[in-house]
Amino acid sequence: MVDLVGQYQGIKEEVDASIARILETAAFINGPEVHSFQAALETYLGIKHVIPCANGTDALQIAMMGLGLKPGDEVITADFTFAATVEVIALLQLTPVLVDVDPETFNIDPAAIERAITPKTRAIVPVHLFGQCADMDAIMAIADKHGLYVIEDNAQAIGANYIDGTGKRQKAGTIGHVGATSFFPSKNLGCYGDGGAIFTNDDALAHTIRGIVNHGMYERYHHDVVGVNSRLDSIQAAVLSAKLPQLDAYCDRRRAAARKYSAAFAGQKHLEVPKTVAPCEGICDTCDCHVFHQYTLKVTNGKRDALAKHLGDLGIPHGIYYPIPLHRQKAYADDRYDEKDFPVTNQLVTEVISLPMHTELDDEQITFITDSVKNFLNG
Ligand SMILES: *Cc1c(COP(=O)(O)O)cnc(C)c1O
Repeated sequence: MVDLVGQYQGIKEEVDASIARILETAAFINGPEVHSFQAALETYLGIKHVIPCANGTDALQIAMMGLGLKPGDEVITADFTFAATVEVIALLQLTPVLVDVDPETFNIDPAAIERAITPKTRAIVPVHLFGQCADMDAIMAIADKHGLYVIEDNAQAIGANYIDGTGKRQKAGTIGHVGATSFFPSKNLGCYGDGGAIFTNDDALAHTIRGIVNHGMYERYHHDVVGVNSRLDSIQAAVLSAKLPQLDAYCDRRRAAARKYSAAFAGQKHLEVPKTVAPCEGICDTCDCHVFHQYTLKVTNGKRDALAKHLGDLGIPHGIYYPIPLHRQKAYADDRYDEKDFPVTNQLVTEVISLPMHTELDDEQITFITDSVKNFLNG
């Protein structure tokens, strides 16, 4: 699905030199690499505060702790996402409220959010799934109207842009009150282990969060709040510093691959290619809104599983993200859910299939993959 070895060849010299330097100085935790990466990411995102942490799941949890959410508070998020999003809500004894998604973008449906709001609702967690922003105009308007926090799960969309109704362009993860991301190796900006970060423009919240990631300490050995131990280590920060200047180029390569896939699938009857929403209808040449963490097709003739098996037999990697709606997972089942409220997710889990997507895909690979899919569907 990804080719991290190929990508490493392009940044090998810089990465090797910075790792060697860290080994020589032994500043493994909180070394200068962490601070310089943090500053570089703040500049790239155009945000005041980046707080690095140990992984994307922690980033979400710490964001919720920083906002002071309390047990029993309801947090609305998407039914169609990776479990980490809902896991941290439950872990903090908040109440996850799962809602359905949009069939075109796979992202949380603002109308479903509205319907799920109760007097206990405190926050909304939109997930920018597969590399494209959720409808942040609508989500921020709902949040304003009801006095709710918005926590963006940006694990899959770092580098993506969002153009709002007024034409203003912002980076994914910087639009809500706080954003969380992951630097897991296969993410668009991945390190060589685990890593994550929290973003915010709110000075007070940033201060609170900086203490939470460090055992609740604002002054050495004074523990003012219950915190966690969540750090990005120096070696991971050095890898990320080498990759960050390449991020836009990496995203361009993913988009180029997505365009080629979609061109090859044009006119296929039982296949829906991923859509990039306005202002860039379709997958255009200049658009930088969607960063294609995944290239996800919908197979609409009921043959998704058979296609997956066919690709597997040919040795073509593929993924089903995600095969089971969260509201049907044992850990997150709740009497409040009614199957009638999840028509889109319930259908998506039977139709979606993701093809290999990374920065090193070449034309020959793309042709082999698209021919194999088409031969199966038409043969
Ligand atoms: C990867 C991912 C996370 C979790 O990130 P980790 O670094 O693996 O903890 C959270 N949410 C989404 C949507 C993800 O894709």
